[in-house]
Amino acid sequence: MSALGHHMVDKHGRRMRKLRISLLDACNLRCLYCMPERPVFTPQKDWASAKDLMHITSNLVALGIEEIRLTGGEPLLRRDFVEIVDELSTLPVKKLGLTTNALLLAPYLSLLQHTKLQQLNISLDSLDAENFKRITRRDAFSTVMDAILTAKILGFTVKINTVVMKGVNDHELPAFVAWSAMHDIPVRFLEVMNIGVMKSQFQGRFLSAFDMKAMLKVDYQFSRLNDTSDSTSRNFRVSNGAEIGFIASESNPFCTGCSRLRLTPKGQIRPCLFMQEGIDLKSLAPEDYPEALATIIAMKPIGRIPHQPQPMYQIGG
Ligand code: SAM
Ligand code: SF4
Repeated sequence: MSALGHHMVDKHGRRMRKLRISLLDACNLRCLYCMPERPVFTPQKDWASAKDLMHITSNLVALGIEEIRLTGGEPLLRRDFVEIVDELSTLPVKKLGLTTNALLLAPYLSLLQHTKLQQLNISLDSLDAENFKRITRRDAFSTVMDAILTAKILGFTVKINTVVMKGVNDHELPAFVAWSAMHDIPVRFLEVMNIGVMKSQFQGRFLSAFDMKAMLKVDYQFSRLNDTSDSTSRNFRVSNGAEIGFIASESNPFCTGCSRLRLTPKGQIRPCLFMQEGIDLKSLAPEDYPEALATIIAMKPIGRIPHQPQPMYQIGG
């Protein structure tokens, strides 16, 4: 731990080392479980600028943040995306990652190759173009698939996030396991979370990680891989060679090992995805950061908060 790392440890011994930055809430897809058909987005003038983001992250990294992931909304919709990545690449972080739907990814890949951003988590909920369109409400499957395979060939660390919903894409679980082995790309199956637009349809669509695994065990054997203590995913090597993981946010929340802080598009730091309280860091002087962080970390819950009125795309998934 760095000399300043103690600012990042809470009373339960959890050390905050990861920062998830939501660059904006707007998106070019309309995934059924995430967005309403006509969402209202934060105006661009209210987004933290590239300069604000550098001010905030450099101060947080000085206090012990080791890994940064950019998310949204769709982060590649920010026109200053490359500027942001170039600046963040100068920070002494262990990992810089991006969570994206990959619709706009392909043209960025050659630029990103020369930055610290090498970890790409790409959302892909179907291997079938028609089902992809049903889930995302956009006809973009081949663009996304091409970008995924190109990123892999170019040497990026690519992982797929698949939100599994009963009666929507659960029948594709075996196809994803075969695809993972064929392309040597890990796939993580996410339980759909009871947040935002999902609240009204959660009961009918939820499938637990336990049930997903039970469905796959009919055809495959699993051996457990070693995960870090703050990993949100329980990862396995499958008998066909695939690497898959399960993120059981609802049935087995990972709050006790959580090491994550969140930054909203407006530059507010929040202790938890499920909390609306936070502190605006944009105008804070460096000497005020330790106290602001201590306040935020003290607010971090140890168990899952049942209610979050804000949808995921506004906070940063
Ligand atoms: N647009 C980017 C993308 O889709 O990868 C980044 C933002 S998105 C909010 C981040 C992640 O949150 C995606 O993997 C998405 O599938 C997941 N997500 C959104 N709503 C969810 C929900 N209700 N339950 C589970 N995961 C959800
Ligand atoms: Fe957009 Fe990502 Fe939400 Fe889908 S999951 S609507 S791609 S923000």
